Amino acid sequence: MRGSLFGPRVLLRRLREVMAEPISAQERLDKIVVTIAANMVAEVCSVYVLRADDVLELFATEGLNRESVHKAALRVGQGLVGQIAAEAQLLNLPDAQSHPAFAYLPETGEEAYHSFLGVPILRAGRTLGVLVVQNRARKHYSDEEEEALQTTAMVIAEMIASGELATLAATQATGLDLSRPMHVEGTALSDGVGLGYVVLHEPRVVVTNLIAEDPDKEILRLEQAISALRLSVDDMIERGEVAHHGEHRDVLEAYRMFAYDRGWVRRMEEAIVRSGLTAEAAVERVQSDTRARMLRQTDPYLRERLHDFDDLTFRLLRELVGKDEKKQVLPENAIIVARNMGAAELLDYDRTKVRGLVLEEGAPTSHVAIVARALNIATVGQVPNVVSLAESGDAIIVDGETGLVHLRPPGDVEYAYAEKVRFRARRQERFRRLRNKPAVTRDGVEISLNINAGLLFDLPHLDESGADGIGLFRTELQFMIASAFPRMGEQHQLYSKVLDGAGGRPVTFRSLDIGGDKVLPYLSRFGHEENPAMGWRAIRLGLDRPALLRTQIRALLKAAAGRELRLMFPMVSEVTEVRLAKGLVERERRFLERHGYERPTAVKLGAMIEVPALLFELDELLEEVDFVSVGSNDLFQFMFAADRGNALMTERFDALSPSFLRALRLIARKAAERGKGATLCGELAGKPLSAMALIGCGFRSISMAPASVGPVKAMIRAVDVAALEAALDRALAAPAETSMRGVLEAFASDHDVPLS
Ligand code: PEP
Ligand code: MG
Repeated sequence: MRGSLFGPRVLLRRLREVMAEPISAQERLDKIVVTIAANMVAEVCSVYVLRADDVLELFATEGLNRESVHKAALRVGQGLVGQIAAEAQLLNLPDAQSHPAFAYLPETGEEAYHSFLGVPILRAGRTLGVLVVQNRARKHYSDEEEEALQTTAMVIAEMIASGELATLAATQATGLDLSRPMHVEGTALSDGVGLGYVVLHEPRVVVTNLIAEDPDKEILRLEQAISALRLSVDDMIERGEVAHHGEHRDVLEAYRMFAYDRGWVRRMEEAIVRSGLTAEAAVERVQSDTRARMLRQTDPYLRERLHDFDDLTFRLLRELVGKDEKKQVLPENAIIVARNMGAAELLDYDRTKVRGLVLEEGAPTSHVAIVARALNIATVGQVPNVVSLAESGDAIIVDGETGLVHLRPPGDVEYAYAEKVRFRARRQERFRRLRNKPAVTRDGVEISLNINAGLLFDLPHLDESGADGIGLFRTELQFMIASAFPRMGEQHQLYSKVLDGAGGRPVTFRSLDIGGDKVLPYLSRFGHEENPAMGWRAIRLGLDRPALLRTQIRALLKAAAGRELRLMFPMVSEVTEVRLAKGLVERERRFLERHGYERPTAVKLGAMIEVPALLFELDELLEEVDFVSVGSNDLFQFMFAADRGNALMTERFDALSPSFLRALRLIARKAAERGKGATLCGELAGKPLSAMALIGCGFRSISMAPASVGPVKAMIRAVDVAALEAALDRALAAPAETSMRGVLEAFASDHDVPLS
C-alpha cells in the first residue's frame, strides 16, 4: 500500500466529502468512481446497480465509454459482473479476458483492460450491485486493494438503500432490485388476509456513520462491545436463559462459539485499521461478507447457524449503537416480520394495529400460531429468509389462507387482494347468517361447537360466532402477559368476568399450562431443561407447587359462586395425578365453605388427554372425571414423537393418519360407553375436514378458534353422520394409505359437504 496520499482510509475520507456535497445523485456517483479510480490508481472504475428485472445496469464509470452509462447492461450470471452478483463473491483476475465467464460489451470499450477486480455491493448479505476497477496491465490486486473496494461498496450500498439512485435507472418501470416486488411461499398458520407495512420484530440497526474519525477509538469501542457481548452470552448460558422462544442450549453454545471466535474479531479489527471504518460499520461489513458466504452453503446445519450469527451480530450492533431501537411506533396496519417469537411476545404488541404476522419458522400448533388465531391475525410461517428480504416500512400482504406473502406488491396484486378481502367479507357474512342456526347434522345429530379463549377480549367472540360455550379457556395467557404472578384477586376478577360474559353458556377452564414453550420470565425454575415440552410443565408443576394451583382453584371456585364450574387439568400422564388434583379442589372447596363463601352449583372436573400413556388407562380415568378433553396438539406430538413447534415436522406426519384417528375414536367411544363427556380442543377441531373426521370418530363436542365456527358449522349442517361413520370405519378397518385425508375428501365431495 502506498503512503498517506492513498489507501482505504484516505479514500473513505474523500468519499465522505463527496457524500456531503449538495449535488445530484448522478453527479455524486460520477465523483465517487473518479475518486476510487484515482485513489486505487485504476484506469477504470465502474458501478453496476441491480435492477428489479435481474439486470445489472452500468450507473457510472470512469475510464470506460461514458456514452454507455445507463445503456450497458448484463443479466445476473452473465459475464464477470453478472457472476459476481450471482455468487455474491469477489473476483480478482490478472487477465479477465481469458476467464471463461468474460463477456465483452462493445459499447464500453473495455477490450484494452486486462486486470479486473470486482466486488459485490452487499447489504445484509443481499446483492444490490457490483463495483469494478480495471487496469491495462496484467496485475493481481493486493489484499489491501480488495479491502478498499469492498469498503467503498458499503458506501454505495447505503446510497442504493436510501433510494437516492432509484430514479436514475434506464427503465423506470422496473425500478431497482431493492424495491423489487416478490412473493414468497410459506405455510398458512392463521387464516385471514392482512395488508399493511412491515415492522421488523427485531429492527435492524441502521449504521449511518461509516467512516472513523479516530480508528484507535473505534478499536477500543469494538473491544468494549465484544467484552460486554461475551459477558451477556456467558450469563445467558449460566442462567440457562432462553432469549427467544425455542432457543435451546445448542443455540446458546453457537452464540458462545461466535462470540469467542478470534477470526471474527480479527476481521472486524482489520476493517477498522485498514479501511478506517467505524466499529459498527466494521461489524456490518464483516457480517455482510459472512452472510453472503454462509448463504451459499447448502448444509441446513450451517444455514441454521447463520441465524445465530445474525443474532449475535445484532446484539453486538446494539451494544455499539444505542439500545432503544426496540421501542417502535407501530403503523396502523402493522405486519410483524420475525424469525420466530413466543406467544407472549406477540401479545405484547398493540393488537388493534397488527394485521398480520410472518415468521421464518413457526409451526401450525406452536403457541404463537394459536395465539395469532385467537387474535385473528393472518399468519404465515416457514417463509424462508423473509427477515432479510423485508425492509421496515415495505408494503406487504399476508395471505393466511394460501400461505403466500407478497412483499412490495405491484398495483395489480394489491387490487386482487382488495377483491379477495371483499370476497372473504361476503363469505364471513354467509357464516354469520348461520350464527343462530343450530349445529345439527343432516341426520339430526347435535354437535356442540365451542370456542377456545384465554383473555377477556375473546368474550365477544362467543356472540359473534354463535358458539355454544368456551370449550377451552387457557388460563396461562393471563400469566404470560403479566410481568409478575397475577394475584388471586386478579385471577378471581378475570374468571368472574369470563363467566359473566358467557352468560350461562358453559366455560371449561383449564388450570395453568405453564412450561414447554410457554415461559413465564418471573417463574424461577430448577435449572435448564433439555426437552421442556416433556419436562416440568402443566399439572406436574402444579402438583409440585401446590400453592400456585390452590390459589388458582380458589379463585375459580369463588368466581363460580352460584353457578357451574368446569375445570380440567392439562398434560395428565397418569390417573394418580387427577386424584391428587381432585384432592386439592376438595380441600379448597372445604376451606371456602368453612369461611362462608357461596359455593358453585356444581363442580365438573375433567382431564385433558394429551399424553399417550393415558390411552391405556382410560377406564380408570373415566371413573375419576366428569369429562375428558383431547388436546390433539400435544397428543399428536407425543404419539408421533414430532415436536409441534418444529417446522420441519409440519408436513411429515398427518393427524388424519389411521393410528391417530383410531386413538381418537377409542377415546370418544369409551367416554360415550360410560356416559362421560368427550370433547376435543386442539387445532384439529378448527378445520372443516378434520372436524368432520372427529365427528366420524364419535365426537359430539369440539372447541376451536372463533373464526372456525362458521366454516365448521356449514360442514356439520351438510353431513350425514351415519354415512360418515360407516365410511370412516370401513376405511380404518383396512387403511389403504398412510392418511385418511383422501378418503375424507372423497366423502365430502361425494356428499356435497362444504369444506371451506
Ligand atoms: C393441545 O395440546 O391440543 C391443547 C389444546 O393445549 P395447548 O395447545 O394449549 O397445549
Ligand atoms: Mg396441550
